[in-house]
Amino acid sequence: MAATAVRVKALRGDSGRFRWRTPVVAGGVRGAAQDAAAGRQDYDLLVIGGGSGGLACAKEAAQLGKKVAVVDYVEPSPRGTRWGLGGTCVNVGCIPKKLMHQAALLGGMIRDAPHYGWEVAQQVPHNWRKMAEAVQNYVKSLNWGHRVQLQDRKVKYFNIKASFVNEHMVRGIAKGGKETLLSAEHIVIATGGRPRYPTHIEGALEHGITSDDIFWLKESPGKTLVVGASYVALECAGFLTGLRLDTTVMMRSIPLRGFDQQMSSLVTEYMASQGTQFLRSCTPLRVRKLPDGQLQVTWEDLKSGREDMGTFDTVLWAIGRVPETRGLNLEKVGVNTNPDSQKILVDAREATSVPHIYAIGDAAEGRPELTPTAIMAGRLLAQRLCGQSSDLMDYSNVPTTVFTPLEYGCVGLSEEEAVARHGEEHVEVYHAYYKPLEFTVAERDASQCYIKMVCLREPPQLVLGLHFLGPNAGEVTQGFALGIKCGASYAQVMRTMGIHPTCAEEVAKLRISKRSGLDPTVTGC
Ligand code: FAD
Ligand code: NDP
Repeated sequence: MAATAVRVKALRGDSGRFRWRTPVVAGGVRGAAQDAAAGRQDYDLLVIGGGSGGLACAKEAAQLGKKVAVVDYVEPSPRGTRWGLGGTCVNVGCIPKKLMHQAALLGGMIRDAPHYGWEVAQQVPHNWRKMAEAVQNYVKSLNWGHRVQLQDRKVKYFNIKASFVNEHMVRGIAKGGKETLLSAEHIVIATGGRPRYPTHIEGALEHGITSDDIFWLKESPGKTLVVGASYVALECAGFLTGLRLDTTVMMRSIPLRGFDQQMSSLVTEYMASQGTQFLRSCTPLRVRKLPDGQLQVTWEDLKSGREDMGTFDTVLWAIGRVPETRGLNLEKVGVNTNPDSQKILVDAREATSVPHIYAIGDAAEGRPELTPTAIMAGRLLAQRLCGQSSDLMDYSNVPTTVFTPLEYGCVGLSEEEAVARHGEEHVEVYHAYYKPLEFTVAERDASQCYIKMVCLREPPQLVLGLHFLGPNAGEVTQGFALGIKCGASYAQVMRTMGIHPTCAEEVAKLRISKRSGLDPTVTGC
């Protein structure tokens, strides 16, 4: 097929100025390769990966008038789970996780209800199949929504697995093996990551599942061992416990590494009070399937060196994630990665070692593995490529929430980080144990409902970090994140009017400093 003489706008470098060129109409594999060799590219921008970052980048660039393509391909999990367009967050991350967390919270509310006069039958069973089907249907609607949005914005979508052929061209392989070559002036890698399997552990791959599977199980996982102690492990163990499943977390070291450790301890303390069992300082050695289908797990107690054993219906590995960079043929085009993490090395403009190839989101080195940061990085990159803005992504003070049964929201520095950076004598920590009003009538234990604000000691006492443990922590932290991003001081937070009666107002009432040694328990209004 001959190239049509339509005139389109194309990107040129980072200047964002347009030049006119004749587009290539792909004439099969060889045609596309020849066109690319002649300096003619199919697209202004090609995005590899249709997840949080990739879709945001593609849609923004298309909205700004660029000719854009997205390639996305989901390799089924070792267990065979597969899903649609939208990446980790939509399919096997934030969305199904938050919905299952909500299902678990509802169980708690059902237990509260009789205190408020609801005559609820004491034993209210939970139906996993029904919950999973509802969650999966919602996720499928999001998959569809993403496809429609791409279509509406004239972004060409290819369901192919991409790898680089050269600096401007990728080869995509479809499910049936069909090959497509696509070329572009600028290429953004947004391939995210996948759960890590401990392949050195006998039976881990054959008998274990990961977060790529848990949300797509049709039947309840039953008695579950969750291995790991970070976001994914604790969130999954939290909702499984909340759904009244016998749940054990096996951790080899500390919970929530990198987070404020006082808060992290309270998170696991609350989980334990709700029924989650913890095997601390333990590491799994092997998993064997018993004739009755149960999984027999042998582990080592790292303190005593003793071996122990238990049986479970499901073993969930939540031991971190590996970036999806290995199959991309990055070495061939000179895109540098960190040999340890396999993540792509990027600069402040998200550019890789090859100037017109960029990387965003979970695949990029040193970036928070969070959806909002991937999205904003993608949008800003598109704006810069289109000459709409020169704004760089600011990765400081990114708020986050761990959706454990008692949610933990935070923004800024942990107490440990603040002390390490500024010295103990320059840091003031204000704190409070408080009782959410909704816990009172329901006679819930609020021992772990705790807030701390980490500030510089010198006036005006700049707020360095806020840590909130309690109901709706994500909602509370989101609002205060704005203040902290704007450089709020302790004095300004204290002048902020509370909204009564809420948990969030307790932040604006943090009068007791740790240094004072006074009892930080809030009593009364
Ligand atoms: P992804 O969303 O992972 O998208 C990458 C896409 O690229 C995928 O569709 C992948 O299949 C595709 N791909 C990979 N290689 C290729 C290739 N060669 N060719 C074509 N396509 C390819 N973050 C939050 O902010 N809040 C949360 O509550 C939260 N909860 C989470 C819960 C879990 C269980 C997990 C695992 C993660 C959670 N996250 C959460 C993190 C969040 O999901 C990720 O940070 C985010 O999805 C990263 O976006 P991304 O664009 O970098 O990659
Ligand atoms: P992390 O890398 O944060 O944590 C891995 C955990 O597994 C650690 O507790 C680690 O322990 C443990 N671990 C690692 N290797 C082994 C092993 N061989 N045996 C036993 N335990 C092991 O991974 P996650 O998968 O939990 O989270 C990945 C990212 O996804 C997070 O950083 C976060 O950004 C994002 N995410 C965000 C969420 C949110 O916003 N709410 C929710 C879920 C994920 P150790 O400390 O000893 O190394």
